Amino acid sequence: MRVFVLDSNKKPLNPCHPGKARKLLNQGKASMFKRYPFTIILKEEKPNHVNNKFELKIDPGSRTTGLAILSANNLIWAALLNHRGLQIKDSLLSRKQIRRSRRNRKTRYRQPRFLNRKKPKGWLAPSLMSRVHNIITWVKRLTKLCPINKIAQELVRFDTQKINNPEISGIEYQQGTLFNYEIREYLLEKWGRRCAYCGIQNVPLEIEHIIPKSKSGTNSVNNLTLACRKCNLAKGNQDIKDFLSNKPSILNRILKQCKQTLKDATAVNSTRWKLFNSLKEFNLEIETGTGGMTKYNRTKQGLEKTHWLDATCVGKSTPEKIKVEVIKPLIITATGRGSRQMVKPDKYGFPRTSPKLRQKQFFGFQTGDIVKAVVTKGKKVGTYVGRVAVRKTGSFNIKTAFSTVQGINYKYCKPIHKADGYSYAT
Ligand SMILES: [Zn+2]
Repeated sequence: MRVFVLDSNKKPLNPCHPGKARKLLNQGKASMFKRYPFTIILKEEKPNHVNNKFELKIDPGSRTTGLAILSANNLIWAALLNHRGLQIKDSLLSRKQIRRSRRNRKTRYRQPRFLNRKKPKGWLAPSLMSRVHNIITWVKRLTKLCPINKIAQELVRFDTQKINNPEISGIEYQQGTLFNYEIREYLLEKWGRRCAYCGIQNVPLEIEHIIPKSKSGTNSVNNLTLACRKCNLAKGNQDIKDFLSNKPSILNRILKQCKQTLKDATAVNSTRWKLFNSLKEFNLEIETGTGGMTKYNRTKQGLEKTHWLDATCVGKSTPEKIKVEVIKPLIITATGRGSRQMVKPDKYGFPRTSPKLRQKQFFGFQTGDIVKAVVTKGKKVGTYVGRVAVRKTGSFNIKTAFSTVQGINYKYCKPIHKADGYSYAT
């Protein structure tokens, strides 16, 4: 994975090989600018040094988003961005419950006033919006560190136009074609990612003709479903009515579901569209791709299924052969920047602690900073690197990769990376 380089005016230059960065740092020609993602700053100006094109590719997911930077056909940088959607949902729910119980306990009757609240157009739930904010934050940060001139985003799961196109004939259902991948994504969405006959999940699913071709079944998408290997073999050339003759409820469900139109299956992903509209504000060239296309590109190159390699394969312009320079992507986890809650309540909603101090920084440190502590005296002799939780007394806690160490004096701590709402691992 390459290292980001800035010139002395903080303008992004071509990212360089880590070996070269080490040399520059040792020679004193550069110094470290940021630990995560690793960025160096040169001590002299380098005008017009950027000669390559850099493309940032995004594969948005509900828990994890993949980020990848490509230069021509080299994958030079990759990251996994873990969102905190569930955390936000839980804390909003708990706040709601505490408030509700407080109001219901011993207060006069209050008229409901929920009808006077309007949601603005394009409103998304806070848990969904946080995902959009996370991605936009990282696009902003990366455009400041790398001369990015194009963005590619996976926008939809499948291409509705392609599937609707009546010109497509039977030949194109062959395995391994782009159309096959689009149709698979469509069927996965329509049939809920499970075997239509036995309902099994997380197994390889095969495309199945509901009325077999030998019994004059057509290749239309409405005659297709997904089945596991076992059910597909068991059904074989039988008509669906014979195969499910003793399971009428399943038969009815399938016959009903296969008549559903494309529109019902097209789960409009509001988060992805919101992201797409926000990305437009960067004034960079934007390309969008489908999930089917991503899968097709990735399988064709024999790449592993991970979020960051999926991101690499987003879009039609993906090169035929990608040279993967990344061994381990940077793992970025959204942690938030603390809570606004002044007092922690117990399980009955009564105050459990004294009010929080207004001050966030103590002895130059803030909760969330990544520090290195070399303890030379006492019971806790050793070196600890990790996220710090500050205390007014100066006795900090450090959360390392393995455990949480308590009671480390601030005098032993040296900052590595200032708190920025995310934690990092490699
Ligand atoms: Zn099955």
